[in-house]
Amino acid sequence: MATVNPLKPKERVKIPRQHPRELGAETRRTSFLEVSSGFDEEQAVLEASRCLECRDAVCVKGCPVAVDIRGFIQSLVQRDFAAAADRIRQTNALPAICGRVCPQETQCEQVCTMGRRFEPVAIGKLERFVGDWEARHRPPWDRVSAPCRGPKVAVVGSGPGGLTCAAELARLGYRVTLFEALHALGGVLRYGIPEFRLPNEVLDRELRLLDALGVETRTNFLVGRTATIDELMDEEGFRAVFLATGAGTPAFMGIPGESLSGALSANEFLTRVNLMGADRFPENDTPLRLGREVAVVGGGNTALDAVRTARRLGAEHAYLVYRRSRAEMPARKEEVAHAEEEGVELLFLKNPTAILGDERGRVRGLTCQDMTLGKPDASGRRRPVPVPGSEHVMAVQTVISALGQRPNPIVQATTPGLAVGDNGTVTVDANQRTSRPGVFAGGDLSRGGATVILAMRDGRHAAAAIHRYLCEDERRDAMLCRDVMTKTVAVCHEIDPVDRCARTMRDRNVGFLPVVDAGGLVSGLVTDRDLAIRVLAEDLSLSMPVSTVMTRDVRVCRETDSLRTAERRMAAVKRSRLVVVDEAGRCVGVISLSDIAQADSRTQAGRVLYEVTQRRAVGSARRT
Ligand SMILES: Cc1cc2nc3c(=O)[nH]c(=O)nc-3n(C[C@H](O)[C@H](O)[C@H](O)COP(=O)(O)OP(=O)(O)OC[C@H]3O[C@@H](n4cnc5c(N)ncnc54)[C@H](O)[C@@H]3O)c2cc1C
Ligand code: SF4
Repeated sequence: MATVNPLKPKERVKIPRQHPRELGAETRRTSFLEVSSGFDEEQAVLEASRCLECRDAVCVKGCPVAVDIRGFIQSLVQRDFAAAADRIRQTNALPAICGRVCPQETQCEQVCTMGRRFEPVAIGKLERFVGDWEARHRPPWDRVSAPCRGPKVAVVGSGPGGLTCAAELARLGYRVTLFEALHALGGVLRYGIPEFRLPNEVLDRELRLLDALGVETRTNFLVGRTATIDELMDEEGFRAVFLATGAGTPAFMGIPGESLSGALSANEFLTRVNLMGADRFPENDTPLRLGREVAVVGGGNTALDAVRTARRLGAEHAYLVYRRSRAEMPARKEEVAHAEEEGVELLFLKNPTAILGDERGRVRGLTCQDMTLGKPDASGRRRPVPVPGSEHVMAVQTVISALGQRPNPIVQATTPGLAVGDNGTVTVDANQRTSRPGVFAGGDLSRGGATVILAMRDGRHAAAAIHRYLCEDERRDAMLCRDVMTKTVAVCHEIDPVDRCARTMRDRNVGFLPVVDAGGLVSGLVTDRDLAIRVLAEDLSLSMPVSTVMTRDVRVCRETDSLRTAERRMAAVKRSRLVVVDEAGRCVGVISLSDIAQADSRTQAGRVLYEVTQRRAVGSARRT
């Protein structure tokens, strides 16, 4: 692989890692201005020239979306900033955001060859430089042509997962609508991560790209309440849905006093400040009462964001209470250092046991117990063990818990047949497919709390999978149940004796029979298993009519329904087969998931042909 840097490796390692300018800690204590101002052009080129241009660029393997790191850094060395932007955008739609918030020190920079003996190349800060340069000099939203009008796709949730998926699908030519429960787009990027780490202006310019791509947005739209997934698909004609509703339901400590005034979750606290401007009361009408002494409980990014925000809002003492030690903190080291510079007091090896209230029901203190570290637990971190008799009270007027989050259950509860894991996450396969055909999911909703870049990766994978699905779906739409169903199905009549029915099943070698009434219409279903269990368990006579043992819970579809309709109905009612009826309701056959799968494999050649024509049709919507 060709190298472009004229410096010899031993000259490159002598260049110290570059550091961008930062606001002074004193200014930061009262300001929400961004802490770091990023590299200028000279710093970026100098930092890029430290790269060793490794033949085996391990940094790329460390990046969850496999950005061509070596390639974009080479473009920087050549001062071709536009080429650097193009290389990053091949796999990362939000470089200016990732450059600011991704934990590079545990991803690409952790494995960087330079980092083995010297400081790693500042890959994240270079990525941010390229994203910011592109926005100033060559805005991507000025370079998209009018979108074409393919099938409709709904994207639910406008965090990094939803934004990435929506942009990718729009580029492929689909008509995308982005649904968001809140009044503003961005998910955690807007209401969670504060302005001093990620200014809203950076997010807003990424949203301009969505706008230019023709993505329609519907805010204040709570999917599951305003409309369900089934309503969006059946009534509004969305052919596929990507769910990226995140993990916005906070976990609480489960200790006494959590309902006192002044005890709140980091999620609520940050949303009130970042989204609703509660810090600017009465200019904005959502007040936020904050004590002089504030304790934030937790050790992750959310806890750090909350405690640094509290400090900026005037807390004289802003404590971070964490039950393990500094070494186990999941928060980014850079953020921890910034917090300390700003005067945040880090209290390690302390675990809250109760929040104390005054006579007016307001927080007046936090009881904590000292901890020591024992053996590693399932997470690999050393388990905190309480020190007996070490309980003590901290005087605080506000307690903010930042102990992790889980998905909000609304969409799961209102979407029949959507498989959900133990902790409320939506179950997906490697292609982000859920158990419901046409419904895909990703980001924190399927992972539990994760990271921005992983949500983006899911959004990207889902867009590709939705494209494949819709190509196949188009054919499923054109094929009817009567084309693939098993036609020769015996039936039994409600008045037939049970033993005759069992004989028919045995002779026909089938495990069930549709039951019809006197008019020949399907009225129920009887299976050999049900027959055996009921007849044996209840000691029924074999000459009894089938109507006494059959189930009336029979699921049917019409012979003129498309395969897509049949498949969706099977998923919704959690059945792998349906009885097929004609227009009059008479049984004409049975269709199963394997019949549909066989039809799919028979027409693989058709799929390839369809995809080629689809790509040609949408080609005009791609970026110029
Ligand atoms: C305070 C904080 C700081 C963080 N800092 C970092 C960091 O520095 N680096 C990092 O990599 N990660 C960080 N994370 C984690 C990261 O932000 C998340 O992993 C990421 O945002 C998940 O993206 P997502 O698209 O899955 O969902 P989200 O960003 O959570 O977005 C989900 C969106 O869906 C909307 N929604 C929910 N339900 C519905 C519904 N029924 N109908 C319509 N819309 C709905 C929500 O309102 C929200 O806008 C942080 C998280 C928090 C809370
Ligand atoms: S591993 Fe580090 S030094 Fe090697 S190509 Fe990647 S960024 Fe450059």
